[in-house]
Amino acid sequence: MTGLGKRSKKGRRRTRPEPHFVCPCCDYVTLSERGRYLICPICFWEDEDVFYDTNPREPSAANHGLTLAEARDNFKTIGACEAAMLPHVLPEEDRAAYLNFPLDN
Ligand SMILES: [Zn+2]
Repeated sequence: MTGLGKRSKKGRRRTRPEPHFVCPCCDYVTLSERGRYLICPICFWEDEDVFYDTNPREPSAANHGLTLAEARDNFKTIGACEAAMLPHVLPEEDRAAYLNFPLDN
């Protein structure tokens, strides 16, 4: 057998901590922490900093200069924070595994 070295630390591979936080982009509860560069499985927004929650027009470096406002618009229209992430996002039918708290906006 080969490739054992590629496993992540302590064999905790793919365990998913219970998410408690709403993704600022898609409004699904997908994040176990905020501001820790976690990537939302539903929209693929990278949660760089809670700063963007209140400054949605500031470009996010972790999201290649995308702003949260753009990402939210993209999610509504194409189902991902940006078109390049579409191959990675969770299929719409699988989103039911997550709670959703849409904001009125
Ligand atoms: Zn999201």
